[in-house]
Amino acid sequence: MKIVILAAAPVAIIAAWWWNGSNERTWNQEAIESVAGVIYRVKCDKCGRQFEMPAEQYVSKFKNAGVPCPFCDSQSAYKVGEAGDDPEQFKEEMSRITTVAEVQDKLEDAEAEYAEIKRKIQEFGDLNADPERGAELRRERARLRAKVNALNMRWSEILAG
Ligand SMILES: [Zn+2]
Repeated sequence: MKIVILAAAPVAIIAAWWWNGSNERTWNQEAIESVAGVIYRVKCDKCGRQFEMPAEQYVSKFKNAGVPCPFCDSQSAYKVGEAGDDPEQFKEEMSRITTVAEVQDKLEDAEAEYAEIKRKIQEFGDLNADPERGAELRRERARLRAKVNALNMRWSEILAG
């Protein structure tokens, strides 16, 4: 009986090790699959520059503080959004809007465009079936989502005076 228990212990340790390892591989694989085709907007914490990186690459290159920055080589760039959704692109357009009526008008248009792109994507089906077109549609959706957000923020700013 003693012998059996002694013999069983290393097997259990090996099984636990194997189970943990295979789970980790499964999780990594699932993380990679759920981001397939998505492109992230990434910002370097050290030099402040931004760049784009396919999310799959981001997941596989991520270590402790981030992914390597192609400009300064530090491993400290992290995801700040999706490709196309940088709010900076609307800064000038927003500064020209000064009344609630204007912002309402533009918000209605942007919301309609956003609904339209979502409808197009739904109709398109699997975005990864055509990666190039898929990336284009995702970028446009991200841009319009960012625009709707920018307009809502502008609305609050105008109300606040
Ligand atoms: Zn950098």
